[in-house]
Amino acid sequence: MTASAETTSAQPVVESARARPPRSSSTSPSRSVGSAASTAKQASPTFVHISEQPFTLQNWYKHISWLNVTLIIFIPVIGCTTAVFTPLQSKTAILAFVYYALTGLGITAGYHRLWSHRAYSARLPLRILLAAFGGGAVEGSIRWWSAGHRVHHRFTDTEKDPYSVRKGLLYSHMGWMVFLHNPKKSGRVDITDLNADPVVRWQHKNYILVLLFMGFIFPMVVAGLGWGDWKGGLIWAGIVRLTVVHHATFCVNSLAHWLGDQPFDDRRSPRDHFLTAIVTFGEGYHNFHHEFPSDYRNAIRWYQYDPTKWLIWFLKKIGFAYDLKTFSHNAIQQGLVQQRQKKLDKWRARLNWGVPLEQLPVMEFEEYQEQAKTRALVLIAGVVHDVTNFIEQHPGGKALIQSGIGKDATAVFNGGVYDHSNAAHNLLGTMRVGVIRGGMEVEVWKMAQRENKESTIKSDSNNANIVRAGSQATRIQAPIQGAGAA
Ligand SMILES: [Zn+2]
Ligand SMILES: [Zn+2]
Repeated sequence: MTASAETTSAQPVVESARARPPRSSSTSPSRSVGSAASTAKQASPTFVHISEQPFTLQNWYKHISWLNVTLIIFIPVIGCTTAVFTPLQSKTAILAFVYYALTGLGITAGYHRLWSHRAYSARLPLRILLAAFGGGAVEGSIRWWSAGHRVHHRFTDTEKDPYSVRKGLLYSHMGWMVFLHNPKKSGRVDITDLNADPVVRWQHKNYILVLLFMGFIFPMVVAGLGWGDWKGGLIWAGIVRLTVVHHATFCVNSLAHWLGDQPFDDRRSPRDHFLTAIVTFGEGYHNFHHEFPSDYRNAIRWYQYDPTKWLIWFLKKIGFAYDLKTFSHNAIQQGLVQQRQKKLDKWRARLNWGVPLEQLPVMEFEEYQEQAKTRALVLIAGVVHDVTNFIEQHPGGKALIQSGIGKDATAVFNGGVYDHSNAAHNLLGTMRVGVIRGGMEVEVWKMAQRENKESTIKSDSNNANIVRAGSQATRIQAPIQGAGAA
């Protein structure tokens, strides 16, 4: 939330900035410095961080980041309760809405896409505005927020992910800010570029002032001096507005890792959903975002809701933003194809395609003829099928299928009498019980190669055979017209 998720110091931001001048090239998001005493304590070999100790009646309050709780729970609850007794003037309502959009976009276009991901570059006046409005969202300094967000991307869903959804939806939404963490367990990332930006440095150092002024005083003064509604400005455009912005942007950590589709990669939790996009100023296409984090877009289709993208595009048009980064259409399509292929493979794996040819027993032709006397075996293209349970259901009638028993019915099946459908070849595949000829391993291997003879890709990502339509082993290249019909 504020500069540190685990400090209990009254002025964590200021202390943190002073104790850790932004010279270091890496940081962890929840790393705070706190007092010299606590640093010394942590260095001691016997020191066990509070987060490593069990909750007890005596120590529960030590697990809580009271500063964060004040900012994300106490103030919102008090403000929203007071709002019930504070008339909402129309001008104040408009201000609250506009300021909600500005501070929300300060987070999404500024904190997130500009500073966390460097998805575009911004000129100084724009950086100052984004730092101010983003600060008004009361979600911590750019430096703290962006470092944490980079850790989230680097260690998504792991123990080092500061807001891992694996720890629960509510935890990823707010819980991670309520409870203290051991900074030694947090992932670390490079923030050299953030430290090099004077706007980021200034905002981090003076974050308490930025928070108070942009979060509460500014909206109060605008409504107060503008139309005399000082209280409404503070309560509605200040606190109620920041509560809404909080939960809207917190949804990127919770809802966007919980609700929706995974068109690009399903190995981790990020998801795409229109509802999340509506709530989060367009950050709802989170599966895309985790795959292509430095793309200034979250939504790639024109009809998808991504006002943050539209704003950045507009800022470029008026000269405030430049160097907008996008991943190539090809790279995006590759991701889509692979994920779709993976789903297809799973679907295919659930179906019965018959015993793979290379796993079937090999038999001599004479052996086949002998066995066909006791059960209904039909030989087609070197593959022996047991059709005993299918004779009654054969769409072409009992007589025709029976006429093939114990014989080589390859030509008859492939157009001699009837050029069987793709579905018929698939069905036949499920009845295979052996392969004929030679009995040598190499023969079996050759036969296995014949399945999918028209395709070079013969197995899926799980190494399961892909049997393509028209490429079944039982289908021979060109249907034999009339042969065997006589
Ligand atoms: Zn995420
Ligand atoms: Zn991100």
